[in-house]
Amino acid sequence: MPIWTGASRDHHADRGQGHERARNVIVLQGDGMATAQRDLIRLVTVGNQAGEDLVMNKLAHAGLVHTDPADPEEAVTDSAAAATAFSTGVKTFNGAIGVDADGNPVPTLLEDARRAGKATGLVTTSQVTDATPAAYAAHVTDRAQQSEIARQFLEGSKPDVILGGGEDFWYPAGNPGAWPDNPPTDPTEQSKGNRGNLVERAEALGYEYVSDRDGLADARGRKLLGLFANEEMFEHREEGEGDLYDPAVPLPEMAEKALDTLSRDRDGFFVLIEEEGIDEMAHENNAGLMIKAGAALDATVQLAVDFARRQPGTLIVVQGDHETGGLTIENPDDEDESGEELSREDGPFPVAGTDLEVFADWTTGQHTGADTPITASGPGSERFDGVIDNTDVHGAIAAAMRGR
Ligand SMILES: [Zn+2]
Repeated sequence: MPIWTGASRDHHADRGQGHERARNVIVLQGDGMATAQRDLIRLVTVGNQAGEDLVMNKLAHAGLVHTDPADPEEAVTDSAAAATAFSTGVKTFNGAIGVDADGNPVPTLLEDARRAGKATGLVTTSQVTDATPAAYAAHVTDRAQQSEIARQFLEGSKPDVILGGGEDFWYPAGNPGAWPDNPPTDPTEQSKGNRGNLVERAEALGYEYVSDRDGLADARGRKLLGLFANEEMFEHREEGEGDLYDPAVPLPEMAEKALDTLSRDRDGFFVLIEEEGIDEMAHENNAGLMIKAGAALDATVQLAVDFARRQPGTLIVVQGDHETGGLTIENPDDEDESGEELSREDGPFPVAGTDLEVFADWTTGQHTGADTPITASGPGSERFDGVIDNTDVHGAIAAAMRGR
């Protein structure tokens, strides 16, 4: 049974219900995005008026996802175990990338799609080798092995399109690549790869490599590697401490290029598109930039919905891997100050289209165990209705790709 039954949902995006096959799959992830994050992004960007909602909330089907990992020491998941559950249908331990609880590699949705002849892609504002994209296209027991993850992309899972940050893991120390070492926005960033020059390796394997916005706009290759930052494509810090959400290539632009490129494949495609800023800014209890990152994700969902209108047979899934920050949304109240330092109340933020204001109140700088909303449209999207487990997301997408 759907959890939400709002009349505002876009049932037009859902043509192709039943057991029609999903030719294309677009998975959009807000890392760290649970209910309160979606609501704060909604209130500040589109407001609380009847009929107004985020694009991600207007998709035809909705569910709630349990996020628990299979970890011997921790009940709350990290992004690696959560992404592995989504990508493989297997619960595993925190830090694990595409391996089960015993450390054995498990096939991923991206690899299944490639075996079915589809084009595949990874797009993120984080390092392209960070936990979420990595768990769709690599198999290591420790998420910190980012150069090995990049090597496995090139020599193992071979995504056709790889766009995001994390250049530092593609070049050995001493070779800065296109993004200078020790930049003023974060002097700690410098090349630290331990698998040789992987950008050269990618080019030898037929990837067109680009490092900036103009280069991406001009790129025509069917295989694209774009690295647009040393590490994340933003600076996650506390408010006023050098925090910055200004990706060198905005997420919707990276996503549009990925869809243009991948949709040239007659067999369809699978793409993961992640906005990492929601999680990283929530870790810093920085609601202003969490909202900005969330707005970028919603603009990207709009782009996916527009694409699906042109190309029926496209399954769109908008998911969050866990909650970050223990966020609540409160009225202004001088008498109610429940936290100090990092977890002090954050705001006020105007509610769009009104004279109202809300405060963001954080309870932690870590992940929490709250369920996350999932919304979907297109072939197979009814499989996401109800209260489900993160491993069920894998089964639902796999079944939609198979058409049964
Ligand atoms: Zn996190």
